[in-house]
Amino acid sequence: MSTRKYTKIEGPTIDSVPLIYKHKIPIQKTYKFWEGLKEGKIFATRCKKCGRIYFPPQADCSDDFSSDMEWVELPKFGVLEAFTKVYARPQGFDDVDPYVIGIATLENGVRVMGWVDPPDEKCVKVGNRVELTIRVIKDRHIIYLRDLSCT
Ligand SMILES: [Zn+2]
Repeated sequence: MSTRKYTKIEGPTIDSVPLIYKHKIPIQKTYKFWEGLKEGKIFATRCKKCGRIYFPPQADCSDDFSSDMEWVELPKFGVLEAFTKVYARPQGFDDVDPYVIGIATLENGVRVMGWVDPPDEKCVKVGNRVELTIRVIKDRHIIYLRDLSCT
């Protein structure tokens, strides 16, 4: 049984300033992925034992628990499988125009999530071919799925 107690606030309140939680994420085992983005390359990891490709990259294979992994560059083209427009943006992106997030299956069967270009849900269609590109938004390298039927 939980012993946690919640304090009920009584009387009037005011809002605090927005809080930002920021911390260091260790990337030692995925460093090549982050460096690749800067060069316009999207890397996944492949298990040398069973051949399974992981994206986002994993340092260990969850099928056979092997840590003998190699880096492989993802194909540049795929097919859009699903998408949705994001109006309620997360903290840090709340000043960015509403955007479209999609999932594409690449030529090697790997699924990738990215921002869909253009962010026009009237033109973008499931089944359309997309090209993977990378853009820098707010100092972050963002994977884009460029809908080749909407350009
Ligand atoms: Zn494996």
